[in-house]
Amino acid sequence: MPAHHDPSPYPAGLRLAGRRVVVVGGGRVAQRRLPALVAAGAVVEVVSPETTPAVEGHALSGEITWTARPYTSSDLDGAWYVVVATDVPAVNRQVSHDADERRIFCVRSDDGDAATAWTPAVGHHGPLTVAVLGNRDPRRSASVRDEILNRLRSGEIVARTDQTRTPGVTLVGGGPGDPELITVAGRRALQEADVVIADRLAPQALLAELSPDVEIIDATKLPRGRAASQESINALILDRARHGKSVVRFKGGDSYVFGRGFEEVQECAAAGVPCRVVPGITSAFSVPALAGIPVTHRGVAHDVTVISGHVPPGHPESLVDWDAVARLRGTVVLLMAVKHLAEISVALRKGGRRPQTPCAVVQDGSMATERTVFTTLEKLADDVERHQIRPPANIVIGDVVAVASDLLLLEDGRRHDLTG
Ligand code: SAH
Repeated sequence: MPAHHDPSPYPAGLRLAGRRVVVVGGGRVAQRRLPALVAAGAVVEVVSPETTPAVEGHALSGEITWTARPYTSSDLDGAWYVVVATDVPAVNRQVSHDADERRIFCVRSDDGDAATAWTPAVGHHGPLTVAVLGNRDPRRSASVRDEILNRLRSGEIVARTDQTRTPGVTLVGGGPGDPELITVAGRRALQEADVVIADRLAPQALLAELSPDVEIIDATKLPRGRAASQESINALILDRARHGKSVVRFKGGDSYVFGRGFEEVQECAAAGVPCRVVPGITSAFSVPALAGIPVTHRGVAHDVTVISGHVPPGHPESLVDWDAVARLRGTVVLLMAVKHLAEISVALRKGGRRPQTPCAVVQDGSMATERTVFTTLEKLADDVERHQIRPPANIVIGDVVAVASDLLLLEDGRRHDLTG
């Protein structure tokens, strides 16, 4: 009977935790099946004279056991599920015959007709498992699965339920600004929020996607003055959380990198309000990367230091040992430093950093308005002034900048070759 006349399979979610699963074969097919079986908590035995290094790795870490010999029928004793994955057709036939006889469901990558179960394309979105069976057209099922997951992640398909809504506070780091650069967990937390309290540098495009019943509070519009605004933010967070709402505190980059995130965690803890953190991609590393600059590079920089320049060197509140920083040979990334670059540049040169040290200034990293200025330590402040750089901008200091700009010049040259 042709495949398209087969009745469609009956989907079921196998709960394999603590249950024996036998995988016959240790090659690439087995390797692909193992992570999901392990994640499901199955007690997996791989039977195969040889395995790939990855399969062996699972065995060495104790996630599975590997029995290094050819298959025998008694291997199926006590199994709930069998994966047939050798490259010897006769062995595959034997295993699936034995499984049939014992009424154990069995998947076969080499012969779907002979299999008693098919593996769907699977993906996870928080507590949801999406499984798509494409009637043995794996590309199609994988692409439908991807489509569903993408829409769940973007919020086009809303998966809000009372079960996933957790009252309390979630600190979400939104990444450098491009809405694509938030984490999957961060995006999901946003979708499940009743209230979102957002900073200026949090990716604004993501706020626009939220459902109309979500209360969005712009933290930058709260009463002025650093301390006052932090107090009113804290008060708001606690108020909404105490009303049983799921509150997302939405920040740029990572909440714990100069983001005052932990102050809010402390506040919640003191008030007995549950609070969790979803880390974000910090601008300190991602903004240079997007501008083409690696913050470390083999043979060039073995250290990278991230510094807040919101107070200048010598300021009574400064906690930075600029002399020590100046003695480092690696990369320095400055955040919140646009205002104090003249003093910082002097301090670094006084401490021993070469005036010619290459620097890059990246404004509005990952956004449509992103621009980069290449300069040197001695010209840094002047060039920032001349190019009218405005916050947010990150400054990268060190020889990695030269590695990057060499390549950029090369690419520029090629472009000119092509166009002119
Ligand atoms: N928690 C954030 C940093 C907050 S401090 C993080 O992890 O990225 C604010 C500073 O971050 C800005 O003054 C700027 O130096 C830097 N910054 C944040 N986003 C930026 C971006 N998209 N481009 C350039 N610099 C950025």
